[in-house]
Amino acid sequence: MTQILDGKAMSRQILDGLKNEVASYRQKGFRAPGLATILLGNDPASAVYVRNKRKRADDVGIKSFKYDLPTQTTQLELLTLIEELNNQGEVDGILVQLPLPAHIDTSLVIYAVNPDKDVDGFHPENIGKLSLGHPRFLPCTPKGCMYLIQASKSKLLGAHAVIVGRSIIVGKPMAYMMLNTDATVTICHSNTRNLREHTRQADILITATGIPHLIGEGDVKEGVVIIDVGINKLEDGTLVGDVDFDAVKNKAAAITPVPGGVGPMTISMLLENTVAAYRHHLS
Ligand code: NAD
Repeated sequence: MTQILDGKAMSRQILDGLKNEVASYRQKGFRAPGLATILLGNDPASAVYVRNKRKRADDVGIKSFKYDLPTQTTQLELLTLIEELNNQGEVDGILVQLPLPAHIDTSLVIYAVNPDKDVDGFHPENIGKLSLGHPRFLPCTPKGCMYLIQASKSKLLGAHAVIVGRSIIVGKPMAYMMLNTDATVTICHSNTRNLREHTRQADILITATGIPHLIGEGDVKEGVVIIDVGINKLEDGTLVGDVDFDAVKNKAAAITPVPGGVGPMTISMLLENTVAAYRHHLS
């Protein structure tokens, strides 16, 4: 019987836990945790993501510091705001919604965030710590994938994890996380020859490509655990992952649905990182 890894339910549980933890700090007279969210420009998808993050933060008792900046905001103005937030005692986490408009150097912005408040986990210091095996903040989406893999109860030590996609926000940090749990890791990408040869070897398959139904029944082996990060909108408006869920479902030991798998975990991981930063800043 295939286990469906329900990210929605797991995310709800994590958010409840965070809410209780924040409430108990507040009862003891501590300030609320603070999360600054910066949205620059008017990309509709980014606006929805930021709105959801702010709403969930409110639900958990995290104070939101909201910055909605016009598209023409200069790089200097953005960097100046980040510097102010780096020094603001009530702000534990800073999130700059990506992608940024072309006139802004995204790397400079990521580098500008105080690594102690980098709850997205993208600062090179935090990626470096992760790669060395002693992470501080884990990037949210792959961190959510780790929770889902753990829920599958599959053995990680020595397991062959195949990751399809090597982006900075998903594939690469995912590879470090799997290595840190003693899995054997293969990373595939758009120039990988004969993708299937690799994916068929996976005990754990994580895909983050943005290509609907890239992975079909013949691309996986019996008993695989599948984590599908892809979110793809078909012409008829249906949301699907990178994996042909119906075709592979019966072959997999465990699989995430799209929607309702990895997606809901990402926000709860952001808030988990924010509460971790808060705990650290209080101590
Ligand atoms: P990206 O475009 O930065 O990276 C895509 C990766 O896929 C690249 O490394 C590329 O080499 C690889 N790739 C492309 N075609 C391939 C092919 N035919 N074979 C093998 N590899 C191939 O994308 P991203 O930001 O990592 O996002 C990937 C997907 O995950 C998107 O659908 C995105 O919407 C989704 N996503 C979901 C969440 C979430 O919260 N669930 C978060 C981030 C991204």
